Amino acid sequence: MADETIFSKIIRKEIPAEILYQDDLVTAFRDIFPKAPTHILIIPNVLIPTVNDVEAEHELALGRMFTVARKLAFDAGIAEDGYRLIMNCNRHGGQEVYHIHMHLVGGQPLGPLLT
Ligand code: 5GP
Repeated sequence: MADETIFSKIIRKEIPAEILYQDDLVTAFRDIFPKAPTHILIIPNVLIPTVNDVEAEHELALGRMFTVARKLAFDAGIAEDGYRLIMNCNRHGGQEVYHIHMHLVGGQPLGPLLT
């Protein structure tokens, strides 16, 4: 069993976060240090440390992350102009929190890379 991160506490509402969506599979909340006008993190409720740890049993939650990203992009009014979905893996990918998360960023034109 991998070590829990701060994101498990956010899922259980043990520490504050601006949660925008939660169901039995995923939780979405605003990034504490937004890199763009819209910066939301979408995470599976189950702890998967990195994309390298993804298994077939996680496919339902991973698929839900995309449908929730789509919904939140429309809710934020950024769907038509566009946005970026990012998942960082391990050190070279710039991953800081070892509970996989999809960054939904938009609200402005984005450069070729966003870390
Ligand atoms: P990573 O670099 O791992 O892909 O991204 C981690 C993200 O989590 C960062 O954008 C960082 O700002 C965000 N983050 C880290 N700790 C917290 C926290 O306690 N609350 C929230 N809402 N976001 C956090």
